Amino acid sequence: MCVGRNYRAHARELGHEVPSEPLLFLKPPSSVIREGELIVLPHESARVEHEGELAVIIAKRIRRCAPSDVPAAIAGYACANDVTARDLQRKDVQFTRGKGFDTFCPLSSHMVTERPSLDARISVMVNGERRQYGTLGDMVFSIDVLIAFVSDVMTLEPGDVVLTGTPEGVGPLFAGDLVVVSIDGVGSLSNSVVSDHD
Ligand code: ZN
Repeated sequence: MCVGRNYRAHARELGHEVPSEPLLFLKPPSSVIREGELIVLPHESARVEHEGELAVIIAKRIRRCAPSDVPAAIAGYACANDVTARDLQRKDVQFTRGKGFDTFCPLSSHMVTERPSLDARISVMVNGERRQYGTLGDMVFSIDVLIAFVSDVMTLEPGDVVLTGTPEGVGPLFAGDLVVVSIDGVGSLSNSVVSDHD
């Protein structure tokens, strides 16, 4: 489960208003890859972008959970990359194709159980150059409010993963790039990029 436009500066850079409610979308389980596995650029897209995000892993089945009860339902935290075919996302209006290709959800192989602080920095480096930067306190909807909102829509199950949105600085990925998502107190996630059409 993912949320769009959950950092003000990122909503602005895409030309959107900050939403009044979380904007939810899904990525399929088949999009998940692990540390060190390859992000594959599909030939259907001319513009694939990185989105470094904090991932929250659910520990307990929850439905219509109050925000105050969310922390007890969380197993841990990890780094994720919500890889996005931006051209297809814009063309299709809804996000299923643009966000759903195989390998489009790199996710840390390990999680931490302690929640990172609101001043924890989240950053994305591509080939050693910083592209994205923010702090977790920049989120429009907090982790607990966001997960409570999701649970008002659908039952969340143990092992479900909620991506919490990306800070500003999204940009393109090309074959040969190394993209690293880092979050203070959580760790980092590295994946190289290849193309299916060179
Ligand atoms: Zn995202």
